[in-house]
Amino acid sequence: METRTLTQLSPSKLTTYMTCPIKFYARYILGVKSPPSAGMLLGRAVHKALELLGRRRQLELDVTLDDVLSEFHESWRCELESLEQAPDEKACSKAINGAEPMIRAYWERFADERPEASELRLDEPLINPATGEVYGEAVNMVGIIDSLMAEDDGLVIVDFKTTSRTSSPATLSLMHRIQMLAYAYLLQRATDHKVKALEVRQIVNKKEPEVAVCRMPLPEQLDFSPMFLIVESLLDSLRTNRWIPRYSFMCSSVCEGYTSCSSHASGDSGLTS
Ligand code: SF4
Repeated sequence: METRTLTQLSPSKLTTYMTCPIKFYARYILGVKSPPSAGMLLGRAVHKALELLGRRRQLELDVTLDDVLSEFHESWRCELESLEQAPDEKACSKAINGAEPMIRAYWERFADERPEASELRLDEPLINPATGEVYGEAVNMVGIIDSLMAEDDGLVIVDFKTTSRTSSPATLSLMHRIQMLAYAYLLQRATDHKVKALEVRQIVNKKEPEVAVCRMPLPEQLDFSPMFLIVESLLDSLRTNRWIPRYSFMCSSVCEGYTSCSSHASGDSGLTS
């Protein structure tokens, strides 16, 4: 199979590598794509709808709930049309029925909010601020921040998550620690403003949809060493072509790396480990 050359790292690539190096290898080096579930399509289309709301508010332009719902339906249609095989029809209709109440719940809480930036793309070199070490000359860190809020005492990075159940603040801060550091790293390099917090807004698809907001304050002096440890390990895997499987109860045949890790387990992968 043809392999790709990696020129960009991102918060989600680091998270995927941490979850399982072979999954990372399959997704980003071999280019294996799993067909998206109805829940993933829902998440992308809701994201697009909230992006429209954020952009229009940022530019102080009028926007109505109908505009936001129309954007959702248009994005959902485009997502479905781009697929060779649509997900299960029942799952799709369940997802689409849940979407409007989710967007309404978000609208009720944040319709008037004016972000400083929406879908902000940042692209920075990887330089460890503690040591000055430059990592991977041909590999930059690239991230897209869903929404950026400016408050009197600093910037707040806002990340949207569509989910079927609410995670506790403790779980969120563990799950998103590296992602949070990566976004803070990008913003610190891009601006002189203080980055004060990461806010995860979980838009929960349940009978009575809700928006659960969890704000995680960032310390005055950020320690980026956990992020650079992952970066070093990832760059080492790329250099040596060593990819370790991380088997867990989350593993299933829909994972992009399933074929690679299954043959790895039987000693027939062609991967070094
Ligand atoms: S199924 Fe295989 S590749 Fe996917 S997460 Fe599990 S061990 Fe990793």
